[in-house]
Amino acid sequence: MKESTTDDRTLDANAVAGMLETLFGADMTVADSKCAACGREGEVGTLLAYTMAPGVVLRCPACSAVMLRMVETPRGTLVEAKGLAFVRMNR
Ligand SMILES: [Zn+2]
Repeated sequence: MKESTTDDRTLDANAVAGMLETLFGADMTVADSKCAACGREGEVGTLLAYTMAPGVVLRCPACSAVMLRMVETPRGTLVEAKGLAFVRMNR
């Protein structure tokens, strides 16, 4: 993780591709995803990424619902994905 700042920063999910690849073992930016809130489907790389120490939030660009949350905790990396209807790692 980069050093923390007090400002929320909006990026696209490509900016957190390295973190996602470490967690999932694949390039997630080209994986398809579906928003559980509004049903929008799109590549993970199109989601909006908000980096805020100590974690990252990915939001739906259509309805801005939180789709994925990743937080570094003392016990490990916590991944919350209740806003995701699915993620599909395409062959
Ligand atoms: Zn949505």
